[in-house]
Amino acid sequence: MIQMKMPGVTVYQSTLMKTTSTLIETPDCLIVVDPGWLPDEIATIRRDVEIIRHDRPLYIVYTHAHFDHILGAYAFKDAIAIASRRFIDVDQAAALEEVQNFNDEYYIESPVLFPNITHVIDESETTLTIGKTKLIFFLTPGHEATHLSFVVMPLHLLVCGDYASDVEIPLIEHDSNEYLTTLELLESFIYEYEIKLLIPGHGHICDVRTEMIERLHLSYDYILALRAGKESNWSPSWQRTSFMSRLHEKNKRQVKKEQSEQLARRQYD
Ligand SMILES: [Zn+2]
Repeated sequence: MIQMKMPGVTVYQSTLMKTTSTLIETPDCLIVVDPGWLPDEIATIRRDVEIIRHDRPLYIVYTHAHFDHILGAYAFKDAIAIASRRFIDVDQAAALEEVQNFNDEYYIESPVLFPNITHVIDESETTLTIGKTKLIFFLTPGHEATHLSFVVMPLHLLVCGDYASDVEIPLIEHDSNEYLTTLELLESFIYEYEIKLLIPGHGHICDVRTEMIERLHLSYDYILALRAGKESNWSPSWQRTSFMSRLHEKNKRQVKKEQSEQLARRQYD
């Protein structure tokens, strides 16, 4: 279940959808990101937190409000919780219904609750300083509207959430134009903060800067092709399954919807 462990960072990989959960340890605090999915997996992360905690404050960051990223909230009710402004404004009942449906389908009896956010991120480049640890948050919509990513210094870590995956295609559930802007932003962080480790929400971590950039460029090219009504070259590492093809068709519908809305707006103007 552990995908990668190095001093200060443990990346867990769920059995489901290669979803990552991250535990960051600095002399000042512990930071958990998107703990998921299964009860045993969530309990393991919580146990590991307690083993190394030694009275340090515990933070939890939710990158976005998709149900697979919030369903572990029940195990971290005591943590200082961070998410975007849009995250707390989301239709919480709808998000919780998805968690409940998942639990019901697999006879899981975990509590279902929406994270109680104590630190709301209103704008990009909001910095939270805890001793010598700096967390720099950026709003990164596109995949989903509430999305944020953050950099951890001095670890030179980029927790990007559901971007830069090496296993799945870019999933555009919010807006393709904002998705492209976010990809540009993420690329600029890699240079600006000399990122040594990139952690995507699904798939494998990346510790080679040229490969980080390549992942972002592959996503960029994929979306540009979609918007031009063309088929793009898929990254060789993106899964070629019927499930992924369905997500690709969903992306096409999303881009078509955006284009017809844009056209309608232009005609109205
Ligand atoms: Zn997501």
